[in-house]
Amino acid sequence: MASKPLKMAPTRRSGKFPPREWRELADKISTAVAILQWELGNMWGHVSARTPDGRHFLLRHLRPPANRDIPADDVLVYDLKGNLISGRRDQPDEIFFYLCPYQARPDIGAVVHCHPAMVLALAAVGRKIVPFHQRMAKFGSEVPVLPWLYGYWRKHGEMVARVLKKNRSVIIRGHGAVVVGETIEEACMNMVELERSAKVILLASALGDIKALPPAVLKKFQTVVGSRWKDDTDQAKSRSLVEWMEWHYYESLVKRGERWSRL
Ligand SMILES: [Zn+2]
Repeated sequence: MASKPLKMAPTRRSGKFPPREWRELADKISTAVAILQWELGNMWGHVSARTPDGRHFLLRHLRPPANRDIPADDVLVYDLKGNLISGRRDQPDEIFFYLCPYQARPDIGAVVHCHPAMVLALAAVGRKIVPFHQRMAKFGSEVPVLPWLYGYWRKHGEMVARVLKKNRSVIIRGHGAVVVGETIEEACMNMVELERSAKVILLASALGDIKALPPAVLKKFQTVVGSRWKDDTDQAKSRSLVEWMEWHYYESLVKRGERWSRL
């Protein structure tokens, strides 16, 4: 459960403790892990976020460390060449699902990979995730689906990164999904939204065909949503304002140790 401020270990290279911004980012990663563990109902995947200097990224598994001597909130820190800078726990097999998107797109601030069950169910039968409600506009006309890949190999990570150049999410058949965002708040909420949308499609498809909203309607919604919300933060000017607001709702529950009803 998240989360008190983290005591990150000294970096392996410099021996110095990491900057405050990294610890704040690690705290957000703990919150994202708690949201996704509960929302997706499993422990498979990782949450990562680029550091403010743009030259590193922090990564944490959803699952606890196999070694019980290592704290559950231990965070791995990598540079953009894939070198491990800090962190004690086991490294993920699927590092190229993170490294390749960060290398390909400097505007990506966070990458999340999980194994959302309903998304996988739709992919298994070739059913597309289309924007049937207004909040799905960010996913485009349909969420792209790739054949089975595993981020252990650079080539597989590059295939994911190629699709993510123009998309916020990609589904990997027989494995899971990778989503990105400008911020960790946005990437986390994109994963939540993707799985919830898949659940609704599964429910509705028992009753009939799913009809996507017309592109013009989605565009109209996107141009006005949140335009009358006022906030003092820079995030208020960002296109991920809605995800940021959603994040604060779930973060407040996580910080109080509460959970919510899942769809
Ligand atoms: Zn995976």
